Amino acid sequence: MSNQSAHPGVSVERSDERSNYDYTSEAIEQPTLVSELRERVDGDVRFDTYTRQMYATDASAYEATPIGVVFPISTADTAAVVSYCADRGIAVLPRGAGTSLAGQAVNEAVVLDFTRYMDTIVSVDAPARRARVQPGVVLAELNDTLASDGLKFAPDPAAGDRSVIGGAIGNNSTGAHSLKYGKTDAYVEECEAVLADGTVTTLGETDLSDLREQADRDGTLLQRVYAQVIRIVDDGSNEIRDQFPDLKRNVSGYNLDVLVEEAETGTINLARLLAGSEGTLAVITEAAVSLEPLPETKAVSLLFYDSVLDAVTDVQYVLEHDPAAVELIDDVLIGLARDTADFEAIASLLPDGAQAGLLVEFYAEDASHGRSQTAGLLTDRVSDDATSTDPPSDHPETEQTYSFAGLEAHSESDREQFWKLRKSGLPILLSRTSDEKHISFIEDCAIPPEHLPEFVDRFQSLLVEKNRAVDAAFYAHAGPGVLHVRPLVNTKAVADRQDMVDIADAVTDIVVELGGSVSGEHGDGHARTQWNRKLYGDDVWSMFRNLKTAFDPDWLLNPGNVCGDHDMTENLRYDDEYVYDAGFEPSLNWENENGMQGMVELCHGCGGCRGSQEASGGVMCPTYRAANEEITTTRGRANLLRQAMSGDVPDDPTDDEFAEEVLDLCIGCKGCARDCPSEVDMAKLKTEVMHARHQEHGATFRDKLFANFDTLAPFGSTLAPLSNLALSIPGAGTVAEMTLGIARERTLPSFRRETVQDWFETRGGSHISKDDAERRAIFFVDSYTNYCHTDVGKATIRVLEATGTHVQLAERTDSGRPALSKGFIEQSRETVESNVEELYPRVRDGWDVVLAEPSDAVMFQSDALDLLSGDAVESVATNTYGVCEYVDTFRLDENIDWEPVAASIAYHGHCHQKAIKKDHHAVSVLRRAGYNVDPLDSGCCGMAGSFGYEAEHYSLSKSIGNILFEQIEESGATAVTAPGTSCRTQLSEERLETVTAKSSLTGTELDRDEPPTPVELLDHCLPR
Ligand SMILES: Cc1cc2nc3c(=O)[nH]c(=O)nc-3n(C[C@H](O)[C@H](O)[C@H](O)COP(=O)(O)OP(=O)(O)OC[C@H]3O[C@@H](n4cnc5c(N)ncnc54)[C@H](O)[C@@H]3O)c2cc1C
Ligand code: SF4
Ligand code: SF4
Repeated sequence: MSNQSAHPGVSVERSDERSNYDYTSEAIEQPTLVSELRERVDGDVRFDTYTRQMYATDASAYEATPIGVVFPISTADTAAVVSYCADRGIAVLPRGAGTSLAGQAVNEAVVLDFTRYMDTIVSVDAPARRARVQPGVVLAELNDTLASDGLKFAPDPAAGDRSVIGGAIGNNSTGAHSLKYGKTDAYVEECEAVLADGTVTTLGETDLSDLREQADRDGTLLQRVYAQVIRIVDDGSNEIRDQFPDLKRNVSGYNLDVLVEEAETGTINLARLLAGSEGTLAVITEAAVSLEPLPETKAVSLLFYDSVLDAVTDVQYVLEHDPAAVELIDDVLIGLARDTADFEAIASLLPDGAQAGLLVEFYAEDASHGRSQTAGLLTDRVSDDATSTDPPSDHPETEQTYSFAGLEAHSESDREQFWKLRKSGLPILLSRTSDEKHISFIEDCAIPPEHLPEFVDRFQSLLVEKNRAVDAAFYAHAGPGVLHVRPLVNTKAVADRQDMVDIADAVTDIVVELGGSVSGEHGDGHARTQWNRKLYGDDVWSMFRNLKTAFDPDWLLNPGNVCGDHDMTENLRYDDEYVYDAGFEPSLNWENENGMQGMVELCHGCGGCRGSQEASGGVMCPTYRAANEEITTTRGRANLLRQAMSGDVPDDPTDDEFAEEVLDLCIGCKGCARDCPSEVDMAKLKTEVMHARHQEHGATFRDKLFANFDTLAPFGSTLAPLSNLALSIPGAGTVAEMTLGIARERTLPSFRRETVQDWFETRGGSHISKDDAERRAIFFVDSYTNYCHTDVGKATIRVLEATGTHVQLAERTDSGRPALSKGFIEQSRETVESNVEELYPRVRDGWDVVLAEPSDAVMFQSDALDLLSGDAVESVATNTYGVCEYVDTFRLDENIDWEPVAASIAYHGHCHQKAIKKDHHAVSVLRRAGYNVDPLDSGCCGMAGSFGYEAEHYSLSKSIGNILFEQIEESGATAVTAPGTSCRTQLSEERLETVTAKSSLTGTELDRDEPPTPVELLDHCLPR
């Protein structure tokens, strides 16, 4: 295969003239530079304030505003930028996904972002196990493509679902399986690179003798590089061998140990010098990488210990068993897992007293090989009776044991549970909204495994001495000796910053003494460059600097990193000069530490919101997935919001431009609240800003219209079918667009003359008497269900009654959701107050509250608590359910004798229900009713309430929808179901064959052209 770009159809919406956004701000820095660069490149050149500020951060604690950002589309573009900047003494920074943890992806430079256009897999030669790729190819997407050939790019950094090849080479990345595969450098065969003067060259395998011939200290830039390389090989080899630690993983400094080792063979690969160079030597525009076969299967063991010290002491003996990965889990992570509902399954297996664990993974030829490997490990490292499988006769044996219990996992789902435990901690560590954060600065030391116990012991003592031992989790890749430790530091405080330096200084002393490295995988950047001189000594430090000067005579490529002058306390994102002023008082409840400010400052930049649907799954962040623009990620929004509230962006967050470019495109799906490891809740932040904006500038008529649907709907219903006719006459769409800004392509909901409330009254109320009922439920019929989607309401009542539930309808139909989604916080609060007033007495009397529409159910269950406090609202929230959740939670369907329909259904859950982890119930009930359900790992449908109706958002909404449509088409299911009204509207407009409900499926032709809801499918299977 060849020439695959990950984003073939991106930016469709930009051709829609109605879109009032262009992802940039009007304020442009250095317009001359912009126009001159635009003359030279075909890609985008953006020097506006928003773009610059978004690229001022990565996943580290650092911030440096770049001069501007260029998105090259070719090597020629890249060379043009580098050469232009070289002529003017302007710094350049190549960048991938910006997931670096030490600040190596931020600088005061012209940033080259390769992820937008230069993301093509150029070719794959499966028999030769080689791929040629552009630097912006996401690792997971490359591996997805390679999987069909049974191959993979082996280094597996944890952020590989969004980080790219350029970044992997830049940082010399590696992952949990480095014991087997080593680092990225081992897989870099050749790089097309732009040198500091703009020359394009190919670096790869070269005979040392050829290099000698071409080397010329007065020649071209490349010849001078050759000369310097020869000099290092000739004069520095011994010093390099002495000074470089003997480790599986060391990414501090330049890769001179590999150079020297290769030189012994007479052939060196100069492309491998770029690995770990952090963009300081050359800019990679294409790379040839070698590939590894996928393992046939795997097996995993978990060993448990009384202490972290015991666990790390055992590592050296575990390594004798030739595992692919050995990962440490400490007491902090085990404690967090025990206390978190999500880890219930694995937590129940953890033995009492476990204070630490080692996760040990084996690659195996087949299942029995896997079992035999875990058996060998458990027999040796725990006890003879720790496994029921016979161990191989020649398994390693060491008399002294440290582990007191062990588990093994062989099925994929069991193995995933074990890995989940290993990965459990970081999100929880990173969701602190306090000023103290678990920042990365000394989190990446690599130590020879036999010295790990001493290192851990001394590090722990140091943290105790500094009073920072609490919650400083020890985890990561213990096999190759890499430990991630993130003490809590408040960089806003001068004293803490001094502590940070003191700790780093003391820890690096220990590292050097024990023959370790300051960085095992995360790199030098702003955080660690200053320790490289201590680590390697003056001579090697000089070699680094000479090599840098040879490649980049004016030190313009990502200056300051690796062997530069970065000081770890400078350019911190938060320091004592940081001032926060939102410009308005928050109106919602913020229970977290530091309130709204804590949430504004929460995003740590990991780039998790940049993952594609295929690579990352989940909901976050649908707008990035559709638009491929940083400003449409949660990170982009969070960065800009924080910067607007702290003065780095001059706009007030309630300004028109800020609203249009930064926040309007957030569709409020709450995907981030669930999927972001820090649980950044952008939807809630957006609501606050919209509310403040309404207060300052007033609200639009359209916003008021959507917010007040419940007031208008009764008129629509009373006048139906006339009201519907008015909306369907030719030209009505255009008029709606011109007058209200509602996209002409959209069909507005049509009203039913007989509402659900009318129907219920006419049929004489509930058919299950209160006295005979198993349960009593108030069905809160939301406005759209009551006035428009009456079939859904009727089906809900029938299904509830089939479960033996006595049903009564709430008097009110407005949940408060429409007003809240448009930022009318006070209006929504009043509505919720009235609802709670109506429902609380019933809830106190033992009634439950049930809703059909997911976003309205979540309004009661979650958002209401942002608006009100106290027992009444909490009690209503606790006793409210979506209809399928209700049936599933109490297993109310157990007594129903379903009449199953042999149908396969793709299920698209609602993002709001996903956000509070309640979307799985429908799948369980539908399966019990006999349907063959394929639950899609889908994001948002793109409608997001009224968003998709808005003319300026129509195209983006459709682009988001396309991701879902593709998933539906790829599903083997013959029909689709979706509980959300807006999702069904979006799906119905696509007219996919699989989307519309078939009469053969539902038994009765739906009188609307959209998919059925789960509750309608259940209704159809009720015994008649
Ligand atoms: C949650 C989390 C987990 C992580 N886990 C791991 C892990 O397990 N192992 C690991 O190794 N790292 C890990 N990292 C760090 C980081 O994700 C990796 O180093 C990753 O490979 C960086 O890729 P990127 O695309 O984000 O690159 P960026 O951060 O954008 O850039 C990285 C460096 O490469 C340089 N660079 C980028 N493109 C080019 C180019 N075209 N030419 C020359 N130089 C270039 C940049 O200048 C920069 O110095 C983790 C980060 C996070 C946030
Ligand atoms: S919003 Fe969350 S996922 Fe995105 S970068 Fe920030 S912390 Fe990471
Ligand atoms: S609410 Fe949805 S669209 Fe908005 S930032 Fe979060 S994930 Fe993205």
